[in-house]
Amino acid sequence: MLLMKNWTNELYKLLIKITMNTGSSKKRIAVIGSGFSGLSAAAYAAKSGNEVHVFEKHNQPGGRARQFKTKEGYVFDMGPSWYWMPDIIEGFFNDFDCKVSDFFTLVSLDPQFEMVFSGEKVSVPEKNDAIRELFEKIENGAGKNYDKFMESAKFKYEVGMKEFVTKPCYSWLEFASLKITGSALRLDLLSNFRKYVSGYFSDSKLKSLMEFPVIFLGASPQNIPALYSLMNYGGYVLGTKYPMGGFYQLVLAMKEVGEKQGVIFHFNHEVQKINTGNGKVVSITVDGKEFEFDAVIASSDYHHTETLIPKSLRNYNNAYWESKMFAPSCLIYYLGIKGKISHLKHHTLFFENELDNHIDCIYKNKKWPSKPLFYACCPSKTDPDVAPEDGENLFLLLPLAPGINDEEPVREKYLTKMLERIEKHTGENDLSSRIEYKKSYCVSDFISDYNAFQGNAYGLSNTLSQTAVLKPKIKNKKIRNLFYTGQLTVPGPGVPPSIISGKIVASEVNKLKLN
Ligand SMILES: Cc1cc2nc3c(=O)[nH]c(=O)nc-3n(C[C@H](O)[C@H](O)[C@H](O)COP(=O)(O)OP(=O)(O)OC[C@H]3O[C@@H](n4cnc5c(N)ncnc54)[C@H](O)[C@@H]3O)c2cc1C
Repeated sequence: MLLMKNWTNELYKLLIKITMNTGSSKKRIAVIGSGFSGLSAAAYAAKSGNEVHVFEKHNQPGGRARQFKTKEGYVFDMGPSWYWMPDIIEGFFNDFDCKVSDFFTLVSLDPQFEMVFSGEKVSVPEKNDAIRELFEKIENGAGKNYDKFMESAKFKYEVGMKEFVTKPCYSWLEFASLKITGSALRLDLLSNFRKYVSGYFSDSKLKSLMEFPVIFLGASPQNIPALYSLMNYGGYVLGTKYPMGGFYQLVLAMKEVGEKQGVIFHFNHEVQKINTGNGKVVSITVDGKEFEFDAVIASSDYHHTETLIPKSLRNYNNAYWESKMFAPSCLIYYLGIKGKISHLKHHTLFFENELDNHIDCIYKNKKWPSKPLFYACCPSKTDPDVAPEDGENLFLLLPLAPGINDEEPVREKYLTKMLERIEKHTGENDLSSRIEYKKSYCVSDFISDYNAFQGNAYGLSNTLSQTAVLKPKIKNKKIRNLFYTGQLTVPGPGVPPSIISGKIVASEVNKLKLN
């Protein structure tokens, strides 16, 4: 406690010193939150010579990608587990004259993942040639169609991830580059993903395999533009990777990059208010004290950030947020299991039940699904350091409607359902009696930990009407030095987009003229 008080005093002294330093032309920037977008924004803003302070309510960086260790020896990544689009992540490090391998070891998973259907399972191999062969084995001609699908997906990935997602999205005119307008048709912005996939494959398993990546985008494949087949390329073709030590290694690496640029982190410091005057942020209130800054980049959840400013200055009112389609929330279980679980892969998707029924429960009926789909991640299959020697680290995730009741008994009921399905698939007995560590995480935890609107996990759904210029804006319309970043603004949810979001916003803050 004493240590904490001394430390806090040091922080205040430091901030006061900075606040007094009016002679310098560099900006004093406060970043709220240290998820991927906040880490990225802070590092880029500091690289431009600014004085950057990150305020994070938790005791560690990472936001939705935090990590915790248990006394039994399990190490749990709390959120992301699919390391896709490795080139985008590498790009962040390259911008700071370093590379991913300077910080952690990235391994390629083979198989990338397994999908369990009723009565059979399909493992997706690491190498593209092997995936093509697998498709051909399941459906005559599907191998060739896989190549055609991925050729087009590659084009979309290159235009989409290198051009489309790098814009601040104030207006559609930003997309008027020759490359984007010239390829508008090839980007398939207006066709729906489900129909698009059906044009290539007839077998229902192959369709599920191809549809699954866009579920990350938080909507039914019927409502997702076919542009997002770029996800299939960023996943299947570029491969599913795993950072040894867990996804959190990426968080630590980005924090280190930021610190090398001079970023100062303040953990256990929740921003309570953004104080404004004359159309400008003048200061923020932390622990009841005010600190002056020239600009604020809020990487905290957008709706929550706006509750820190007066209603009249907010970009969006409650009716706006109520009208938006949110990506699902989820029920997560972090389980430490005694003994090994045979026949379980690093990533397994339990798809025995109808995808559309589950999706209707999320978006139409807003209720717990009677026949759920879920995802199991068992990183101890790859990484001996995340579980004791004779144990298994098991992360279970079941997508849910945001805002749904999530009391303990209902969580437990679904844990039982998921464990039974894993037992059936693996041939293991009585997994529940082998649980030596258990923690659940659901809608209300997303609200209390991240101030997430209705407890959403992944931000807004990437439907066409919520893409690019139609997403919540990166800049406040009435406060000229307040900016937003993260999965709720452009370009959208996911680790690579959040990193890109931080880069975009840092560049916008650089354009800001003081006075
Ligand atoms: C369970 C789960 C699984 C996922 N799986 C994947 C995956 O496999 N692959 C993938 O690419 N993406 C995945 N995602 C999505 C990805 O994790 C997110 O899109 C990304 O981490 C969002 O980063 P962010 O910076 O926008 O927000 P956050 O990570 O939420 O960061 C915001 C930060 O702001 C802090 N904060 C909030 N309010 C305040 C305040 N007032 N003062 C100070 N600090 C505050 C929060 O504590 C938090 O640290 C997953 C997400 C979840 C939840």
